[in-house]
Amino acid sequence: MQKLTRPIANRARRVATILTVALVASSVCVSTFAAGSVPVVRDAEIEALVGDYARPIFKAAGLSKSGIDIILVNDDSFNAFVAGRRMFINTGALLQAETPNEIIGVIAHEAGHIAGGHQDRLRDQLARAQTMAVISSLLGVGAVVAGAATNTGGLAQAGAGLAAGGTEFARRGLLGYQRSEEATADRSAIGYLEATGQSAKGMLTTFQHFQSALSLSGARVDPYQVSHPMPRDRIANLEQLAKDSPYYDRLDPEALQTRHDMMRAKIAVYTKGQAAASRLFRKAPKGLAAQYGDAQATFLFGNPKAALKKADALLKAQPNNPYFHELRGDILLRANKPAEAAQAFARAVKLDPVKSGILPIAYGQALIATGKPAEIKQAVSEIKRGLTRDKENFNGYAYLAQAYNQLGQVADAELATAEGYYYSGNYQQAKTFAMRAQQKMKRGAPGWVRAQDIVNYKQPKKKN
Ligand SMILES: [Zn+2]
Repeated sequence: MQKLTRPIANRARRVATILTVALVASSVCVSTFAAGSVPVVRDAEIEALVGDYARPIFKAAGLSKSGIDIILVNDDSFNAFVAGRRMFINTGALLQAETPNEIIGVIAHEAGHIAGGHQDRLRDQLARAQTMAVISSLLGVGAVVAGAATNTGGLAQAGAGLAAGGTEFARRGLLGYQRSEEATADRSAIGYLEATGQSAKGMLTTFQHFQSALSLSGARVDPYQVSHPMPRDRIANLEQLAKDSPYYDRLDPEALQTRHDMMRAKIAVYTKGQAAASRLFRKAPKGLAAQYGDAQATFLFGNPKAALKKADALLKAQPNNPYFHELRGDILLRANKPAEAAQAFARAVKLDPVKSGILPIAYGQALIATGKPAEIKQAVSEIKRGLTRDKENFNGYAYLAQAYNQLGQVADAELATAEGYYYSGNYQQAKTFAMRAQQKMKRGAPGWVRAQDIVNYKQPKKKN
């Protein structure tokens, strides 16, 4: 079981932290590794919020010290799944959830799977499988696994297994195996929510939604629904447990709901455009989230001057919101005002309570753009600070190499490039650059030693 899930997890991890290719702004990055793998989003604001959702739950689940990483997947469908020590959450799930509590409930349920040691190979692979391909075999429409063929390794095997094993077998095997795990994860989730004084209403809402949606076959089906069958007795059981809790009617704190709404606005703008964001907040068109969506959309699709005005208005409402300063930095950078952008990012870094690595790297990027040696020197230390927090941030090494090159520190630039390739899994290129760097370094110096580590690195054999 472990053998099959691990390569997938490693690959996803690599994609998650390394191949971050800036799309438009420094703040929202999307990366894709190869067809069939997980496209990952990096964003300081969303990562911080989801981290705040998860932290108390993980603590209640006894997972605080397990180093569970949450990885955001750039996918419109509703999905959340666990692979190894990683919890993947689709942006589609964040966008669809109307309250923090709905996502917290899903995190609690998934934490239940981790704590329960449910590393169900079939479910993990199903979570990644092309949804419709698997749906069709589950519903007995016919085992169409064309989608799985475009994927690699375990996933293709999962699809092939379903096809070969026969639809009925797959259905019974899958649902039968899951039922006990799902019930366990539900019960654990209720316990975590109770321990943290939160309602299980959101979890119930999500699962009820999937139960009713399943009857509308032919409509779009979310992967979460496939991996989480919702028989009536399960929902009934969950409903009873949820309602027994003294916290059933407790709402999310208002500030958290606002952050959630702002996150939804941002995701809507980035993934579906401005109209989608304004549709979300038809009921509160003047609220902070609507305003935020509007500012993000103006930055992405409009002119920087108008966007800057909107960012300033947001800052009037919340002067200490690091992500408003970050947006301001993004706008100023695009307006070709790197010195002012750097100031804005510096504020964002200072105000960020969770110390994301993404923000110092953005700060460094703006400092490099000034083209002034003193600023570029400072960029080096800011980017290094970012990389200390977020060691595998591929973008960070690219900017670090750029800064070193501009300062004429060629060996350091080559070592930074080597590191970037190393963490992106391109070991051949990593070794080439590490060796180049070594030729210009003193034997035994710290940089030389690090380069030697890269040169000596042996790639673990692929398990499948
Ligand atoms: Zn589950």
